[in-house]
Amino acid sequence: MENFNLIIIGGGAGAFAAAIKANELGAKTLMVNKGLPLGGTCVNVGCVPSKTLLWAGEVIHQAEHHQIPGLDIEVKNFDFATVVQNELDLVEKMRNEKYEKVLGNLEHVTHLDGKAEFTSPNEIKVNDQQYSAEKFIIATGSTARVPEIENIREVGFVTHIEALKLKQQPRELIVVGAGPVGLEFAQMYARFGTKVTILHHSESIFSRAEAQLTNRLQEILEQEGIVIKTNAKVKSARKEGDKKIVTFTVNDQEEQVSADEILLAIGKTPNTAELGLNKAGVEITERQAVKVNPQFQTSQPHIFAVGDVTDAPLRLETTAGREGTLAAENTLKDTKQSIDYNTVPWTIFTNPQLASVGLTEDEQMKQMGVCACRSVSFEHIPKAIIMNRTEGLIKMAIHPETRVIMGVHILAPNAGELIAEAMMLIKNKNTIDDVVNSLPMFPTLSEAIKLVAISFTKDIKKLSCCV
Ligand SMILES: Cc1cc2nc3c(=O)[nH]c(=O)nc-3n(C[C@H](O)[C@H](O)[C@H](O)COP(=O)(O)OP(=O)(O)OC[C@H]3O[C@@H](n4cnc5c(N)ncnc54)[C@H](O)[C@@H]3O)c2cc1C
Repeated sequence: MENFNLIIIGGGAGAFAAAIKANELGAKTLMVNKGLPLGGTCVNVGCVPSKTLLWAGEVIHQAEHHQIPGLDIEVKNFDFATVVQNELDLVEKMRNEKYEKVLGNLEHVTHLDGKAEFTSPNEIKVNDQQYSAEKFIIATGSTARVPEIENIREVGFVTHIEALKLKQQPRELIVVGAGPVGLEFAQMYARFGTKVTILHHSESIFSRAEAQLTNRLQEILEQEGIVIKTNAKVKSARKEGDKKIVTFTVNDQEEQVSADEILLAIGKTPNTAELGLNKAGVEITERQAVKVNPQFQTSQPHIFAVGDVTDAPLRLETTAGREGTLAAENTLKDTKQSIDYNTVPWTIFTNPQLASVGLTEDEQMKQMGVCACRSVSFEHIPKAIIMNRTEGLIKMAIHPETRVIMGVHILAPNAGELIAEAMMLIKNKNTIDDVVNSLPMFPTLSEAIKLVAISFTKDIKKLSCCV
């Protein structure tokens, strides 16, 4: 049986980051991947393809809704199949350049195409062969969850995987779930001309985000023509001819909606069921996630886990990658590195984007019993006025005594880019006074961060542009 210093199970962002670090450290490493192609979710069926299609939708929308008097742009042709093929070609190119070629250059890492299963705490079985190692990193990701909806499997549905490679554009689409994936796909398809209905179980779309911003985002999506049913409990599905009909209740009142396709986007289940974790002595949570400590160590000290398969507070490409790097160092060099998730931003890539880092108002109230929050509409930001993009807002939470910035939440075009500045402010424990004394470029959307900081002490309506 071949023995390794480290075996990494998985081939996505977490596994690749771990493999690159292990290679740097000269560890004899085996990386085993099966299911998704090399690169895992993000490049193949997640971040890259979804953002490529969202960008196409944004260009269409911008052409038709720029609101510049005297400028008339017509989208002459929209060929869904070609737009999707371009996305799939881009995925293949990025997978090849950023993953397959990279792996080929890792001299200490052997790649094996196969499904791994633990047979004991130090051994796995792959393609009927046994392999052993001193250390392991589990990075097997997660799979779209299928909710308990009567007849859903008989009627048929798509997840993000199939929705990124449909041959034909649905004329009508039901999206179950209004988290980041549901919202992004809803707007993407709506902008392609599909009639979209979102069914969401709770009162607010993506309820873990800052409520003032999600409420505004919901209004914006509804103004674009997307129907959003909140408090909707989906009960059953059936077929009538070519149509798929979904029955749901809102406050115990039964309603129905019909469409050509149903997209399930209610979250993901960690890929642990077939890993043989009981034989390895690795504990999982109720939602089947691998339990890890802040150093990414499982209940079995020589086995680490990273990315979507874990119970970590954020499940992003960025966190999976960083966890992979740190877990490899922790396990191979016996370090104790961890991530402060409070300083990690996330983004919903709708247009406008909703990006966030640190505490929301609700979280600050829960943690401190008080909150010090201000919000400013982009109607006060000169660049947003110039762009006719004043629909968004920015909200900031600060420590009531020290004035240290604790949370920033932005709904605006390119909020995912703007949040990088807020991330550094929170990471460096800057105060609103640091921001007020800084000089962001005029006119830029980033001035919103300065303006919301000023709004803690001044009425911004009384200020001129040059403040
Ligand atoms: C539609 C969508 C859009 C997203 N957009 C963004 C975004 O814009 N920005 C962002 O930061 N994040 C985004 N995410 C989240 C991000 O893609 C994930 O958090 C990240 O890719 C998880 O990486 P991972 O390494 O944990 O798992 P994965 O990338 O899923 O990799 C796990 C790999 O392990 C394999 N595997 C599973 N079981 C076994 C086994 N037993 N043996 C061998 N191999 C196995 C799987 O097939 C897969 O290849 C998005 C997710 C989705 C679904």
